[in-house]
Amino acid sequence: MNRLAAVVFDVDGTLVDSERDGHRVAFNAAFEEAGLPDHWDITTYGRLLRITGGARRLAVWFEQTGRSSEDARRLAERLHARKTAIMRDLIEDGQVRARPGVHRLLDELEAGGVPVHVATTGTRAWVEPLLDRVFGPRFQIVVTGTEVPDLKPSPAAYDEVLRQAGCPVEQTVAVEDSQNGVRAAVAAGLPCVAAYNDYTRDDDLSEAALVAHGLDDPILMAWFQRQI
Ligand SMILES: [Mg+2]
Repeated sequence: MNRLAAVVFDVDGTLVDSERDGHRVAFNAAFEEAGLPDHWDITTYGRLLRITGGARRLAVWFEQTGRSSEDARRLAERLHARKTAIMRDLIEDGQVRARPGVHRLLDELEAGGVPVHVATTGTRAWVEPLLDRVFGPRFQIVVTGTEVPDLKPSPAAYDEVLRQAGCPVEQTVAVEDSQNGVRAAVAAGLPCVAAYNDYTRDDDLSEAALVAHGLDDPILMAWFQRQI
């Protein structure tokens, strides 16, 4: 590969450990507020992460636990809106932090003059405050699930970043943490670097160009330093 033209980051589980300590906590708070007995422990939530998109995850859960598909969809929509508001509060409280190694990698890319972008299926309502609070104005293009509702493994979010950035696909690298994310990046034609987290340790990431144990894994930094 030639010099890197850009790096596109996933958010959930990649830039931040948002799933276990952010989204899961927010979903449970929304259940409680609504007077529902539902509660997602860490293991259950890990299993549910196979379903991309918060509203869809809720709808599938409600159906699996005995509601009609119409009731499940309606309840999921209502709770998802409330959950998003709770997630924003958690972000403002500083509860969602960068994964180890992320700031260092972003610093290296910035020093190398490599633009960084974001492709996420999360909603803009919480993605924007999160990026602002944790990273400041680092990312040039931010495509969220609000503009591109096709969830990963659809390549749509990556396609939109590439369209806006106008950078050559083969010189643009995606960074992901999950099988759905890697598949989305590869489907868009991007080489993908994958960094496992606790929830994605059993995911098949074999389509990635490099698989690392985290963003602080020395093999990941060495790989980027070779490309910059
Ligand atoms: Mg992810």
